[in-house]
Amino acid sequence: PELRELLLGRIKDVQDYPKPGVVFKDITPLLADPKAFAALTEALVELAVRYGATKIVGLEARGFILAAPVAVQAGIGFIPVRKAGKLPGATLAQSYELEYGTAEIEVHAEDLSDGDRVMVIDDVLATGGTAEASLELIRRAGAEVAGVAVLMELSFLPGREKLAPALGDAPLDAL
Ligand code: 5GP
Repeated sequence: PELRELLLGRIKDVQDYPKPGVVFKDITPLLADPKAFAALTEALVELAVRYGATKIVGLEARGFILAAPVAVQAGIGFIPVRKAGKLPGATLAQSYELEYGTAEIEVHAEDLSDGDRVMVIDDVLATGGTAEASLELIRRAGAEVAGVAVLMELSFLPGREKLAPALGDAPLDAL
């Protein structure tokens, strides 16, 4: 409850961003507050331990910021899942549907393999499309999904339901 209050107090609602009618959850005040950022990192490290994660995947771009310190503190590798066309090596790609059109994410194929238990970290779970596509990538690479952790879940959207089949028995935690 204390952590929740601390984190919620550092997330700003921005009206009509990126377009009219949308309320964007801005996490930059949280990142600028070392106490809040450290508390968030610590909570995510605890989850990484609970999940028994052997790799941390961060989702571009704010997921990178949250996931990197967790990987360092947990002493396990960080793997970027990027928007299409950004990774130089051989990749696995997964496309998914947006409200209008489609998007594609990629991971370096050699970064994930059979024995890995992967924790996915992102800032916000909205419709669940991005996280779901990342779970597909992880499974297609032969690795296991250890769990998904987000700073915030927009519970007025059906992201959790959308993610459920891809999660299987793996947990989804929203701090
Ligand atoms: P989804 O695929 O679940 O619809 O969207 C999640 C992705 O979009 C995440 O990578 C997240 O960073 C971004 N996103 C969607 N809405 C918001 C928001 O209100 N605030 C922030 N910070 N990110 C958002």
